[in-house]
Amino acid sequence: MVLAGHNPASEVYVRNKLKTVAESGCRAELFRLEATAALADALALVRRLNADDSIDGILVQSPLPPGMGADAEQQVFDAIDPLKDVDGFHPINVGLLVQKRQSLVACTPLGCMELLEREEIALRGKHAVVIGRSDIVGKPMALLLLHRDATVTVCHSRTADLPAVARTADVLVAAIGRAAFVTRDYVKPGATVIDVGINTLTDRAEVERCFPEGSRKRAQFAEKGSVLVGDVHPDVEEVAGAFTPVPGGVGPLTIAMVLRNTVTAAELRKDRGRAV
Ligand code: NAP
Repeated sequence: MVLAGHNPASEVYVRNKLKTVAESGCRAELFRLEATAALADALALVRRLNADDSIDGILVQSPLPPGMGADAEQQVFDAIDPLKDVDGFHPINVGLLVQKRQSLVACTPLGCMELLEREEIALRGKHAVVIGRSDIVGKPMALLLLHRDATVTVCHSRTADLPAVARTADVLVAAIGRAAFVTRDYVKPGATVIDVGINTLTDRAEVERCFPEGSRKRAQFAEKGSVLVGDVHPDVEEVAGAFTPVPGGVGPLTIAMVLRNTVTAAELRKDRGRAV
């Protein structure tokens, strides 16, 4: 794992990933770069890790420090050996995913698919609506659902009458980055709702909009001054057929998929070694 700078959220993410990876029996190593490091330093480190045969997977934590430049992330992700790209962001891996060929796939959508599979949610012929079209969640999610024979609609900030489109979904995936955005009127009763969002609420009125008086979350807010909520309003649980909690739903599966991708990457490299 590569961490540049000291972004507090990134420190937490990296610490959690290191802990989980170590508990699994894999070897995890953290490589730090200072916030003042240049893009060339990040690229040189990635090349060194690419060449190190003892390393199967490379994760570069985003965001990179602003001083590295606007397209630094793209350049660094592109520099990672596609066979070590356990985040699945490299254009070669994205292209392989589009063609439904074996590849390393972005961990969050992969985790969502794992949840659907474990809960035996039917996808073939069903209508899946994905709200969000980011390269790391929305787009790969839509492709994975398509490859499982769902009929997929991808929505975004310019989608007309979003609630009406969302209400046609048998499976609704919210990856928007807006606290409790998807309310009951977006959800067909009985639909499966996957909430990818993780938002920190610090505003009392927002907390009161999301959580009823006397709830555990209100008490948590009173104690800590902040609470987590997804992109889906917690009330949706009452109409949905199945619903992922925040925290505790997609997040842990995302980390599990980092592990799976690391094992897949190790096997892919072993196979390549055999083929050479
Ligand atoms: P992102 O890159 O900011 O993309 C957000 C998407 O939501 C964009 O496609 C945007 O549309 C769309 N959107 C924004 N406002 C909208 C609106 N009012 N109506 C309809 N669509 C709207 O975010 P991301 O990286 O995909 O992440 C999404 C959420 O997932 C965030 O809360 C993030 O923290 C969370 N996340 C969680 C995990 C996990 O492990 N659980 C992992 C990654 C991300 P446009 O394209 O039109 O702008």
